[in-house]
Amino acid sequence: MKKTIKFSTWIKFILVILIVLGIGGFIGYKYYQDYLYKQTNEYKLLELGYTQEEVKLFLDKLEDDQETNLIERTNELEENGYREFLPYFFKCDYFLYDKLDLYLDEVITKKKDFFKYKEPSTYNFDKLVSIVNSHANEEPYTSTRKSDISKGVAMIANKHYQLGDYAPDDLVAIPWKYRFGGANDKIELRQEAYDAYIEMWEAANQEEEIYLLALSGYRSKVEQEKEYNYYKDLRGEAYADTIAARPGWSEHQTGLAIDIYSKECSSATTFKDSKTYKWLVDNSYKYGYILRYTEGDEDITGYHYESWHYRYIGKELAKKVHESKLTYDEYYAFYLDK
Ligand SMILES: [Zn+2]
Repeated sequence: MKKTIKFSTWIKFILVILIVLGIGGFIGYKYYQDYLYKQTNEYKLLELGYTQEEVKLFLDKLEDDQETNLIERTNELEENGYREFLPYFFKCDYFLYDKLDLYLDEVITKKKDFFKYKEPSTYNFDKLVSIVNSHANEEPYTSTRKSDISKGVAMIANKHYQLGDYAPDDLVAIPWKYRFGGANDKIELRQEAYDAYIEMWEAANQEEEIYLLALSGYRSKVEQEKEYNYYKDLRGEAYADTIAARPGWSEHQTGLAIDIYSKECSSATTFKDSKTYKWLVDNSYKYGYILRYTEGDEDITGYHYESWHYRYIGKELAKKVHESKLTYDEYYAFYLDK
């Protein structure tokens, strides 16, 4: 009898110990969890006064080191009046954190007047992000940035990437049947772009009885210089810049750009209304060509809308660019410029 009582006392004692340990452990565990949470960037961002929604936005878009950077910079951003713009930028599909300062510079210094009259919420931040990503906020023809030739047919050529003296070494002359001019005129493209043009020509001809005609292809730096200077001599530099690219900066120098009209229509003003144009816009990407200077994108491409100017970038890439609905400048900046 005595032994049994002693045994149950022990049981009770052990139970009490277990309960105490359990509760203690639970509290300790909770403290530990709490401690761990306070080390997270989510907690630190919330502590800085960002809303739940903003923090979610930041965490979705940023890598760990970028989150740390944002935490460290928040006070400075606050002092400079930049902080309120952060959510607008983070909501943009093509936002790049590495370019945050450039976006903020652009919005604060250059668009200052704009915000005197309009609320930030009404401003097109997507457009601003696109412009900055593709360097279109920089003064044209001032960059020392070089076109990356190693990208092959995907290489970029615009007013912010120099081609310098680049000259392709696989140019092929387009036969008379497929182009304007006399029998002795020469319009050339790089081999791959040439093959794709002929394939596209045949398809347009079979599907819609369209006779595509190339007006211009490869232009060397020297030829571009002649063309540019012709307009410059005529009415000055500002005028020439609206008509022709400066030598060393024209996409035609890549041997991958082509100006296309057709038997049906060869007028720069009415080509956009032609059956040929419609076919090209819907189908050229299947052959690796994209309409390069699209309507309404002058502030990104740096060129007025040109319904006749197409650029070869290869079939696979052309399909992606076509589906993205981005200009090539934007696509290149976001996906390829790495
Ligand atoms: Zn052109």
